[in-house]
Amino acid sequence: MRKVTNLIFEKSVIGRKGYQLPELDTPALSANTIFPAKLLREQAAELPEVSEVDAVRHFTELSKRNYGVDQGFYPLGSCTMKYNPKIDEDLARLKGFADSHPYQPEELSQGSLELMYRLDSILAEITGMARMSLVPAAGAHGELAGVMAIKAYHRSRGDHKRRKFIVPDSAHGTNPATAAAAGYETVEVKSDERGGVDVAELKQLMGDDIAGLMLTNPNTLGLFELNIVDIAAMVHDCGGLLYYDGANANAILGITRPGDMGFDVVHLNLHKTFATPHGGGGPGAGPIGVKERLVPFLPCPTVEFDGEKYFLDYARPQSIGRIKNFYGHFAALIRAYAYILSMGAAGLRHVSDTAVLNANYMLHHLKTRYDLPYDRICMHEFVLSGTKQKQQGASTLDIAKRLLDYGFHPPTVYFPLTVKEAIMIEPVESEPKETLDSFIDAMLKIADEVESNPALVRSAPQTTVVGRLDEVKAVRQPVLRHVFK
Ligand SMILES: *Cc1c(COP(=O)(O)O)cnc(C)c1O
Repeated sequence: MRKVTNLIFEKSVIGRKGYQLPELDTPALSANTIFPAKLLREQAAELPEVSEVDAVRHFTELSKRNYGVDQGFYPLGSCTMKYNPKIDEDLARLKGFADSHPYQPEELSQGSLELMYRLDSILAEITGMARMSLVPAAGAHGELAGVMAIKAYHRSRGDHKRRKFIVPDSAHGTNPATAAAAGYETVEVKSDERGGVDVAELKQLMGDDIAGLMLTNPNTLGLFELNIVDIAAMVHDCGGLLYYDGANANAILGITRPGDMGFDVVHLNLHKTFATPHGGGGPGAGPIGVKERLVPFLPCPTVEFDGEKYFLDYARPQSIGRIKNFYGHFAALIRAYAYILSMGAAGLRHVSDTAVLNANYMLHHLKTRYDLPYDRICMHEFVLSGTKQKQQGASTLDIAKRLLDYGFHPPTVYFPLTVKEAIMIEPVESEPKETLDSFIDAMLKIADEVESNPALVRSAPQTTVVGRLDEVKAVRQPVLRHVFK
């Protein structure tokens, strides 16, 4: 393993300073006249002593070591790493929004409440649902809120025997985790040879102990579930409900809606489909939507309008209650609202058309060299298998690492679990053809390299600051803070 080069934290020189304070114009107080003795340090803190230029260069250097969507392509399947338009950032920074406070009275928050109310109805229209809750902080949080609403619905009908939730084997890991966290036993249903739910097996599982089914459509293989209408009827016939994992809805905007497919509950990830930043770029948002009969169970509060003013409604006796402080990640909601309005209905449809076209363009080129377990037209993403390359001497992990040398963020690998040596690619709509072509070129070159010199691919990456990290050691022995020598 190579050492971290060039990344020197020990820049501290005793006595060096990066700040200037004005002269004191009040009597000097020492810390022990202000704080109780038990709160005081016995020894001075060891803080780095650096000049302003040292500090600026250090952080600038670190920022260049980072990789983000403003810097390059992210073919990260299932993550929908699209460009985050800068106008959304400008609007989230408008003073009236940025300076507002969650404890501000409703009379002084009418603009913010109106934005939430409108976003609720737009997302309900996009998904074919009756109402949304914008409160959940992420996709997995939305899933939990949605499955809790389903549980509350069954209970409200005195129906206590439903203890199982069905989840397909290709599902995102959060789905079975959510069902379990909500107190259900998860039951796996296998995929059939076309990559969809095995309907015959599903039929066997049906019964009055089934609370519902969680499904992603298109699924995590990027394949559209052709039997969805039959599946929905089957689940409803036995008294269960259907949960749509809409974390990435990038293939369906303006084309089809979960509500029309028969789903009762859906969550969306605003930080995927609706272009708000992911992860380190800011907190996410995972609004949920429900059909009419589940509206009473939505989390508190909802935003309502009485014809004159907008208000937060806590008086919802059947609600699953509060699932987060305040009302959701408001700044993410502003960005998503700005994105939707700036795209318009036709623009959103164009997003999905282009996302699907881009994925199929890449699939068409890459399947010439990589195995494709389910050879169908894909939706917003597709899953290759590196099995052939593995036999030639380099695994999917090696291929992912080699992509770093070509300047690309690697795709999602080893997921979904149903595909061996899985390579899951989602190009999204915001990438130009030149980027798609250069990624295709890199993948084809790597296929050549695996054939001619697999050791080269196995020893990748060569060009990055750090080589391969010991991920197991990082988990077992985390060093979470810098220790000064
Ligand atoms: C990303 C994703 C999730 C989880 O979303 P988080 O915001 O990371 O909690 C759930 N399901 C699918 C299909 C996803 O792609």
